[in-house]
Amino acid sequence: MAQNFDLVVIGAGPGGYVAAIRGAQLGLKVACIEREHLGGICLNWGCIPTKAMLRSAEVYHLMHRAKEFGLKADSIGYDLDAVVKRSRGVAKQLSGGIGHLFKKNKVTVIMGEAKLAGKGRVTVKTDKGTEEITAKSIVLATGARARELPGLEPDGKLVWNYKHALVPPHMPKKLLVIGSGAIGIEFASFFNTLGAKTTVVEVMDRVLPVEDAEISAFAKKQFVKQGMTIMEKAAVKKLDRKGDIVTAHIEVGGKTETHDFDTVISAVGIVGNTEGLGLEEAGIKVDRTHVITDEYCRTGVEGVYAIGDLAGAPWLAHKASHEGVMVAELIAGGHPHAIKPGSIAGCTYCHPQIASVGLTEAKAKEQGLDIKVGRFPFMGNGKAIALGEPEGMIKTIFDAKTGELLGAHMVGAEVTELIQGYVIGRQLETTEQDLMETVFPHPTLSEMMHESVLDAYGRAIHF
Ligand SMILES: Cc1cc2nc3c(=O)[nH]c(=O)nc-3n(C[C@H](O)[C@H](O)[C@H](O)COP(=O)(O)OP(=O)(O)OC[C@H]3O[C@@H](n4cnc5c(N)ncnc54)[C@H](O)[C@@H]3O)c2cc1C
Repeated sequence: MAQNFDLVVIGAGPGGYVAAIRGAQLGLKVACIEREHLGGICLNWGCIPTKAMLRSAEVYHLMHRAKEFGLKADSIGYDLDAVVKRSRGVAKQLSGGIGHLFKKNKVTVIMGEAKLAGKGRVTVKTDKGTEEITAKSIVLATGARARELPGLEPDGKLVWNYKHALVPPHMPKKLLVIGSGAIGIEFASFFNTLGAKTTVVEVMDRVLPVEDAEISAFAKKQFVKQGMTIMEKAAVKKLDRKGDIVTAHIEVGGKTETHDFDTVISAVGIVGNTEGLGLEEAGIKVDRTHVITDEYCRTGVEGVYAIGDLAGAPWLAHKASHEGVMVAELIAGGHPHAIKPGSIAGCTYCHPQIASVGLTEAKAKEQGLDIKVGRFPFMGNGKAIALGEPEGMIKTIFDAKTGELLGAHMVGAEVTELIQGYVIGRQLETTEQDLMETVFPHPTLSEMMHESVLDAYGRAIHF
C-alpha cells in the first residue's frame, strides 16, 4: 500500500533538505527522496568541498609569506592527494550530518529516483523496486548540473567539469579555465596558487561579469599579479585532444589563436535537472532548463512547488535553503514573505575574495536612479594592515534621494564574511543615516563598511 505524507520533497540538497526539516518542525508528516547523496551538490560537490580545497591553497599561500610575519617555514610543499582527501572528508562529514538532522526531525528518507505520477502521487525507483507514495504537497528540489558546450565536453582526463576538478587525477601544469563566473574563478585561484600556469577565458568583456565593473577590474589586477593570464571578450571554439595535450582554439579580437594546455576546466554554467521528473505530463512549465515559478515557488499546478537551482537564478545554496523554508511555511498554512532576489548576496571565495549584494553602479544608473557612491580601500584600515591584507576595497551605492542602500560590493580578505552586515541593512531597509550612526568595533575589517558609507556622503575619516 502507498505510504501517505503531508509533504514529499524530491532532492536532498540545501533546498530540499531544509524544506523537509522545516516542514517536519511545523508538524507535517514529511518524506525526502534522494537518488544520490544527502546534501546535494552543495555539500558533496559544490560549496563545501571547494571551500575546503581553497583553504588548503590559502594556508599554502600564507606559508610562503611566513618571513613577512617574522616566521620561518622551510621546505614548503603540498600533497594534492591529501588536500583532496581532506576536502572529501569535510564533505562526507557534513553530508552525514544531514542524515542525523533528518532522524532528529523524523523526516522519512527514501533513497531512490523520484518521478511525478499524477495528482499527489510520486513513484520512486529504489534498489528494491518501484514504490508509490502519496502527498498533499510536493516540492521539487532536484537541483542542477554542469552545462556542457558542444566540442568542449569534459572527459575527466584532459577536460574536467567541477566534479573532476574536485578529485583531480593530476596536478595541472598548464591550465585553461573556460568561464570566469564564481565556479571558474575559484578553481583558477586554487590551481594557480598551487603553481599551475593558469589562463582564464571569458566571453564577456570582463572577469566575474555579474559583479560591479570596478570590483571586476580590481580583482583582475590581482589575478594578473598572481601570474594568471586573463583573456576577455574571448571564446573557446574548439578543443583538439591529442595524447596529453589539449589545443584550444580561442577566438579573440576577430582572430583565432591556438594555445596548448595539459588540463582544461569547463565552467560555463549549469542546467537544471528537469529530465525524467514527469514535468510535462504534470503540466509544469519549463523555460529552457528551469521550472517556471511565481515568487512563492508555486509551479501553477496545485500542490507542486519548485525551489533552488531547479527554479532558476541565482544559483546559490542560501537562495535554495531560504526558498525551502518559505515553501514549507506556506504549505503548513503560514504567510511567509516572498524572497527579494535583490537582497541575496553572492560570494566568490577566490583570492582575493569577492562579495556583493544589490545593484551594481551600472545597473543603478541604467534604472535612472540618482546615486551616491562611497569607496574605502583596505589600505586605510588598521586591521587589514595588521593582517597583512592591504589589497581590497569596499564600495557602497545609495539612492541620493531616499538614502536607501542600493548595493554593496567588496573585494579583499574575508569580505564573504562581511557582506552579511549590508544584507541585514537592506533587509531592515536601513538608510545611510542608520549606518553612519552605527558604532563598528575596532580594530575590525568591518570598520571599512562604515567608512565606505561615510565616504558616499563626503565624511570618511581615515582616507
Ligand atoms: C563547484 C561549485 C561550487 C559552488 N559554491 C557555492 C558557494 O560557495 N555558495 C553557494 O551559495 N553556492 C555554491 N554553489 C551552488 C550550490 O551548490 C547550489 O546552488 C545548491 O546546491 C542548489 O541547491 P539545490 O537544493 O537546489 O540543488 P542540489 O544541491 O543540486 O540538490 C539536488 C538534489 O536532488 C537530487 N535529485 C535530482 N533528481 C532527483 C530525482 N529525480 N529523484 C531524487 N533525487 C533527485 C540530486 O541527487 C541532488 O542531491 C556551488 C556549485 C558548484 C558546482
